[in-house]
Amino acid sequence: MLGKEVKTLEGAKDVLLDARNLYENKPAGSFNIPELGGLLNLGVSTLLSAEVIAGLRYVETGSAEAGYIGFIPDSILRSLGIQLVDGRISGVVVFIGQAPDSKSAVKLIRDAQKRNLVSLLAGNTKGQNMKDQLAQEKVEVGLDTYIVPMGGDIVSAIFAVNFAIRAALSFGGIKKGEWEKCMDYCRKRLSVFCVALGYVDEITCAAGLGVLALGIPIITNDRNVPEVGKIPVTLYEALVVEEKVEKIIARGIEVKGIKIKVSDIDIPVPYSAAFEGERVRKEQMYAQFGGKYSDAFEYVKMADAEKIEDGKIEVVGPNLEEIKEGGSAPLGVLVEVAGRKMQKDFEPILERQIHSLLNEAMGVFHMGQRDMCWLRISKDAKAKGFDLRHLGVILHARFHDMFSAIVNKVQITIYTNQEDVERLMKEAKVSYRERDARVDKMTDESVDLFWTCALCQSFAPNHVCIIKPERLGLCGAYNWLDAKASYELNPSGPNQPIEKGECLDPVKGEWKGVNEVVFQKSNRTLDRFCGYSIMDAPETSCGCFECIIAVLPEANGFIVVNREYSGMTPVGMTFSTLAGTIGGGQQTPGFMGVGRLYIVSKKFISAEGGLKRLVWMPKELKEALSDRLKKRGEELGIPDLVDKIADETITTTTEELLPFLEKVKHPVLTMEGVM
Ligand code: SF4
Repeated sequence: MLGKEVKTLEGAKDVLLDARNLYENKPAGSFNIPELGGLLNLGVSTLLSAEVIAGLRYVETGSAEAGYIGFIPDSILRSLGIQLVDGRISGVVVFIGQAPDSKSAVKLIRDAQKRNLVSLLAGNTKGQNMKDQLAQEKVEVGLDTYIVPMGGDIVSAIFAVNFAIRAALSFGGIKKGEWEKCMDYCRKRLSVFCVALGYVDEITCAAGLGVLALGIPIITNDRNVPEVGKIPVTLYEALVVEEKVEKIIARGIEVKGIKIKVSDIDIPVPYSAAFEGERVRKEQMYAQFGGKYSDAFEYVKMADAEKIEDGKIEVVGPNLEEIKEGGSAPLGVLVEVAGRKMQKDFEPILERQIHSLLNEAMGVFHMGQRDMCWLRISKDAKAKGFDLRHLGVILHARFHDMFSAIVNKVQITIYTNQEDVERLMKEAKVSYRERDARVDKMTDESVDLFWTCALCQSFAPNHVCIIKPERLGLCGAYNWLDAKASYELNPSGPNQPIEKGECLDPVKGEWKGVNEVVFQKSNRTLDRFCGYSIMDAPETSCGCFECIIAVLPEANGFIVVNREYSGMTPVGMTFSTLAGTIGGGQQTPGFMGVGRLYIVSKKFISAEGGLKRLVWMPKELKEALSDRLKKRGEELGIPDLVDKIADETITTTTEELLPFLEKVKHPVLTMEGVM
């Protein structure tokens, strides 16, 4: 926020002097919030001190407190960012202290999960905290369940504030030190509120003032705290007392003005995106289907409207109670869909949703897709009355909810007899193969329309993705068919068609129609996009990119790094550092955020020579794309190209990379200069 990098104790002293000035209600450089007689300056002074303390603890111990996440790393920041953008997460609630008892802690957490809020836990009340209370009730915590314990004392609350400021820098395109823009971004765009539980002491109160400066309202159950109405930096009330545990989350949502989308589905277990990452471990499991345990498939098929009945859900074969506890059984989920606007091209789009839709039921764990799916149902869910029929109830309700523009009828049949599953799986496999061939055959030249995606503009106001058949959105979540389907579903939504118009440069991938749209959608900040170039007018990067490509002039090539890789790269920067340089909707020649699959596209930075320019990538990424990379290598006439690309097991420095490239005779050595 202040734009100061603290790398030494001397540097920390500088920040503490700022904290001292603010504490005395004097400006710290340009930083000054005069509202409320300077009270918010005092709060920010507390936050600066807390961050210095938290930093020093890391210096001492080198890691977060045992059992806590501590500092929220960049990979989590970005993954939560994407989910906030696409609506899977409605917002964030920061819990400070402990609930009145462990049952109330579970109630608060479940209320937050049901509304798709991520819970960050910090602090304690007289030594007890919510993390321990949840452990007593055997509630699974972790990012997957949207419950993130940051630390056991109030200092750890600073990680939530740090998260908010970094979200502003990463997604808002704000430069470090632009504190007013940073504050404004947090106040207007971040759906966050704080719940202070138990006794609010002086430090919590002081930190709370700092949090208010960011426009984050506070709800407390401590009746001794005076309520504070609207202040200039909050949307509505700043500090609200709510003693009834069951009303706290609803009150927070109301005072922060968060918009919640909850689906009401008639099943006997809670249902929300917050349960998507919940695991059902072996000891919690009642039964499982697919994986390595039995045959299983999921298949969405377009059907003749006359031949199916909307809402018909049938289980053919044994249902859950007829399966032995701890056992496995075959499973076939056949979803037949009809609708006037339904097209065969939409089948995989609907089918891909089955994974998250089933996972969102509490006690249901789902992995994979097609004939590689794996499903577990917990003993708890079974005890509550959940059975296989409810899988159909979920899919019927959610398909209508999500795809109402194309879907009129949804019929689901669940098969659990081996012969049925085998027979239908054969039919499904034919269809899977046909679909793959259809998408793979599409090229940028074979279509007249591209699609915009402006979904990330809520975070990065000037960013726009141009989605083409051979270049998907940089988050990896939207390909050309997805964007087309999304437009059909919501014609005034974030995906709009672009008439390509005159091709200005086929090598760099520049079209007149695209440039016009880019100018308009980037709020007139950019006027050119070259879809296949990273050096000349490359596409912008918001903050959600799966991978980053970076130029390495010494090697005359590029490296690519995925966000899961936290180590060093030969360009001397980690993914996080690179991400901080290119995010926020900027055009940065030589650097670009991309979706994983773009790497194996024929149009991958083809203006600069494509895949042949790639000199380094992390091993995990190489392995994940291995078949496709091999195929691309063969198409380029270099079947062992993938072996010529270095990874971290070979080197992470330029000095060692160059002799390696010589040794393997990397094609980049004979290519013309990249700069
Ligand atoms: S396609 Fe682009 S704009 Fe759309 S959600 Fe993904 S990264 Fe954001």
